[in-house]
Amino acid sequence: MARGVSYISAAQLVPMLRDPRIAVVDVRDEERIYDAHIAGSHHYASDSFGERLPELAQATKGKETLVFHCALSKVRGPSCAQMYLDYLSEADEDSDVKNIIVLERGFNGWELSGRPVCRCKDAPCKDYRVAIYALWSLQHIKNRVSHFGGSAIMLLCGSINSVAVNITSRHVN
Ligand SMILES: [Zn+2]
Repeated sequence: MARGVSYISAAQLVPMLRDPRIAVVDVRDEERIYDAHIAGSHHYASDSFGERLPELAQATKGKETLVFHCALSKVRGPSCAQMYLDYLSEADEDSDVKNIIVLERGFNGWELSGRPVCRCKDAPCKDYRVAIYALWSLQHIKNRVSHFGGSAIMLLCGSINSVAVNITSRHVN
């Protein structure tokens, strides 16, 4: 079990999202309804967070890493992460959770840095993290290939990219 809450950046979180043992927990309040969210994230609003701790434990059974965030991850995200850490430390039952992490700069930072978001109304959000990871990988490939000027490979990446965008936007709409 984690001893303390640690922090990661959005850039570090993206490749982690392909790991099924990771859950993202959004603790924003009503703004989640108006704004978008990270695909696949759970929603446990900070104003009722304390009452829903057992529910969160149930919903994230088997997960090893929980990544908390609010809008900026200044107050609500870190305090809910700490509250959950305390809850797990005091609970008698064994938990699979090994890491409790806060996403730096929160959802706003994630969105402002151009990371893909989901606008579905599903609660909890259905998990389209694979599509996000595919987009991220392509971005990486394109960046590398451009160093060598491989225009044919760029073309191929472009077409795969548009397929991935289609997959993502279908879920986003
Ligand atoms: Zn969604």
